[in-house]
Amino acid sequence: MSPEGRARVEAWFEYFNDLGISDFCLDRAVATLEISSAPAETIPAALEPPLSRPARVAPAVVNSNETHVVPVLPVIKSASLFAANERIEGDTLERIREDIGADCRRCKLCEQRNKIVFGAGHPKAELVFVGEGPGHDEDMQGLPFVGRAGKLLTQMIEAMGLRRDDVYIANVVKCRPPQNRAPEPDEIETCSPFLYRQLAVIQPKAVVCLGAIAFQSLTGTKPSMSRIRGQWLEFRGIPLLPTYHPAYLLRNPNAKGDVWEDLKKVMAHLGLKLPAKR
Ligand code: URA
Repeated sequence: MSPEGRARVEAWFEYFNDLGISDFCLDRAVATLEISSAPAETIPAALEPPLSRPARVAPAVVNSNETHVVPVLPVIKSASLFAANERIEGDTLERIREDIGADCRRCKLCEQRNKIVFGAGHPKAELVFVGEGPGHDEDMQGLPFVGRAGKLLTQMIEAMGLRRDDVYIANVVKCRPPQNRAPEPDEIETCSPFLYRQLAVIQPKAVVCLGAIAFQSLTGTKPSMSRIRGQWLEFRGIPLLPTYHPAYLLRNPNAKGDVWEDLKKVMAHLGLKLPAKR
C-alpha cells in the first residue's frame, strides 16, 4: 500500500473511532462489501475519505486493498414491506386452516367458543365480505353469517344477483366473543393475520367491510361508519368498501337504502348488472 493510501485508511479508522462506530463499519465491510478493483483516481471526489477531521458525511468504506466500496442495502421491489412481511409463498386456504389448528388457543376467545368459524365460500371469489366475529348460530354451526344477520346478508348478496357460493365470507376473529361483545384489541391482533392471509390467497377484486370493527381491523383507522361508508379505499392493493353491518340494519332498517347504494357501487366495480325490477 502506498504511503498516501495508508494515510487515507488511517484517517478513516480514526474517523470511525471518533464516531464510536468502528466495529459496525468493519463488520459491515466484511458482510456487505463487494470487492472492487477500481483505481483510486476513478472514485468520485464526493466519496473520497478525509485526510483531516471531516464534516459529517456518509462515508465510503476502504478495505485493505485500497478499494473504495459503497455498501448497497437490498431493496424489496413490488410488494410493500408491510405486505411482503406477511405474504407466504404458496399459501392456500387449506394451509391457513391447518395453521389455525382444530383447537386454537392463541387468545382467550378459545375458552368459551364451541366451533372455530374459519370462513366459507368460493376460494377464488371476486368479492369478499368481512364481518366482525361469529355469533351464537355461527359458533354452533362453524359457519359465518348463518344467524339473523346472516340471513339478511344472504338477501343482500342475492339482491346483487349473486349466490352465497359465489362470494367468500369471513370474519376478523374466528371464535365467538362471549355474549356477542365486540372483539378486543388483543384478540383482533392475534386473529387478524389469518384474515390477511385469506385475502392474500383469494385476491378478490373487492372487499366489503361489514361494520366498524372489520374496517378498523383492515385499515388501522377508527373513523365513524356514517362518515366513511360507501367510500372506496385500498387494503394492500385490494379495493375495499365499508358499509353498515347487517346486525345494525336489523336495528336500523332505515339504513338499508344506504347499504344498497354501497352495494351498487360494488356491483359497478365488478361489472355486474342490476337485476331487473320485479
Ligand atoms: N356477525 C358477524 O360479524 N359475523 C358473523 O359471522 C355473524 C354475525
